[in-house]
Amino acid sequence: MAELVSIREAVAARAEGMIAARGDWPCRKGCDDCCRRLASVPLVSAVEWAGIREALDGLPVAVAEAARERIRLSAVGERPFTCPLLERASGACLVYAARPVECRTYGFYVERDRVLGCERIEAVAGEVSSVVWGNHDGVAADLQALGEAAPLHAWVDA
Ligand code: SF4
Ligand code: SF4
Repeated sequence: MAELVSIREAVAARAEGMIAARGDWPCRKGCDDCCRRLASVPLVSAVEWAGIREALDGLPVAVAEAARERIRLSAVGERPFTCPLLERASGACLVYAARPVECRTYGFYVERDRVLGCERIEAVAGEVSSVVWGNHDGVAADLQALGEAAPLHAWVDA
């Protein structure tokens, strides 16, 4: 768990630094396009899933069970995916405090040759020189050290 907290803190520091450097950064509360247009259902390790499960257990029973059922159904869905952990009406993440690290990097990190995020991020990516993007390959390596990652539906009834 300490390792996961450390990764989360590093990602949060990077995101906060970018927002501080540019106050109009597109990622903000209420912006949920990325959660509605995922290339794949989030991949999480056992330690990340433990936090998500705990967060689900803290929700009203009907809300949690509906989310669990969406997770099960996501095993047979097609891309782009709407995240099963998204509260669709409000656009809020049901497990925000426990959301995967993968989600925390959207809009702030880059892989070798592509920005991770949405069209809004792509639109500003080329014009920004005052921020330092996060290195997604580094985070991916740190996450790998936490254990094997699997899609949410692989954990939901495990
Ligand atoms: S990555 Fe795009 S859709 Fe997601 S929060 Fe940032 S600006 Fe909004
Ligand atoms: S886990 Fe939460 S933040 Fe991540 S894609 Fe799903 S709804 Fe969005």
